[in-house]
Amino acid sequence: DEQKAKEYLKNVYATIKHRDPHEQEFLQSVKEIFESLTPVFVKHPTYMENGILERIAEPERIITFRVPWVDDYGKVQVNRGYRVQFNSAIGPYKGGLRFHPSVNASIVKFLGLQQIFKNSLTGQPIGGGKGGADFDPKGKTDAEIRRFCQSFMTELSKHIGPDIDIPAGDIGVGAKEIGYMFGQYKRLQGRFEAGVLTGKGLGYGGSIGRKEATGYGTIYFVQEMLKDQDMSLENCTVVVSGSGNVSIYAIEKAISLGAKVVACSDSCGYIYDENGINVETVKQIKEVNNDRISSYLQFHPEAKYFDGCSGIWSIPCDVALPCATQNEIDQDSANQLLDNGVKIVAEGANMPSTAEAIRVFQSNNVLFGPAKAVNAGGVAVSSLEMAQNSMRMAWSFEEVDQKLHEIMKNIYNNCVTAAKDYGQEGNLIAGANISGFIKVADAMIDQGI
Ligand code: GLU
Repeated sequence: DEQKAKEYLKNVYATIKHRDPHEQEFLQSVKEIFESLTPVFVKHPTYMENGILERIAEPERIITFRVPWVDDYGKVQVNRGYRVQFNSAIGPYKGGLRFHPSVNASIVKFLGLQQIFKNSLTGQPIGGGKGGADFDPKGKTDAEIRRFCQSFMTELSKHIGPDIDIPAGDIGVGAKEIGYMFGQYKRLQGRFEAGVLTGKGLGYGGSIGRKEATGYGTIYFVQEMLKDQDMSLENCTVVVSGSGNVSIYAIEKAISLGAKVVACSDSCGYIYDENGINVETVKQIKEVNNDRISSYLQFHPEAKYFDGCSGIWSIPCDVALPCATQNEIDQDSANQLLDNGVKIVAEGANMPSTAEAIRVFQSNNVLFGPAKAVNAGGVAVSSLEMAQNSMRMAWSFEEVDQKLHEIMKNIYNNCVTAAKDYGQEGNLIAGANISGFIKVADAMIDQGI
């Protein structure tokens, strides 16, 4: 019954909290998932008897390692590297690498936990993992980044493989870093194992459409959300935070569907262009010039620039897409969006909304799309990259894009159905967590303790 299920969830959460009391982000993501699962345990008490939550919340393995490298002045630097191999019930560990000074055990564990459920939602045979380092690529030269990537891979290579664990990019890791790491892995192994990393360059096993996948997938998901409300992106005003890989391609797809995207940001500030942002300029700034978003004003002097990040949520919009980083929308920002009439919030980044922000949206009937469903298009196309590598074949852009679109529609429909089946109609957070959880839990039970 419900009381028993709630008791079980509470006890397991207390154990996790007791074990890692300081891992704030990890505990936040555990809580968000657990809160959705009560109806599942009421309906299927066998999950409790199998200790499924205790097992799912504990990573199968965490690898922490030293990453020594030499900077351009000849000075030795040391960073800390991580790989969390969280869950391999439905496939080899899969998930990105983040290079950012904020990376620590809590961050990689929260990302890894989310990845289990996200990967399950894609319908692809991939388990959950995540990794990274507290290395700051900002201000580093290309040679420094290359030496760092090589050192990082020298250690990581002992733990990964095309059927073991397949890393990819995340914040601070794009095609360039993947290339350096792939080269080092290949040198160490003495063989070309294309499927060991995804997000590779197109000339050596990368998938066409991978670069666009997270952003395009985000918009495909938003389209489904809108369709259910008899709305469309046409003439919608959209605010997108961030200006990295996710943001750029979300902006591009939203514009191509008739939306007006009026703002985007980087870690220093945001631009507001009431005529609509020119995405080609953003690409030029971020993909070519490697410059700050403030330089947008040199190309479009009619736009405005503001320092700081959170101000972007005070801009009136119909659709808000947080695509920068964790906890970028707090309670105050959520209330500002609400006061300005936001109708849909969909998370392109991982856990960009705090628990308090989510409560604001949910209790005020703002349609909310959770990250693990909304941004799953990136890892879904990573899985398609692995499939192409295994076949020694390459699909066309149209083929990949069509598969991505199908996958995003399926994720949306599965979330809606799971929410309905468990008495949470309209709650996509519950739908995503329940649907993602059941597939992994059943596989774990089938495979024994
Ligand atoms: N880092 C991305 C994510 O958060 C993609 C991971 C991948 O492609 O393996 O899902």
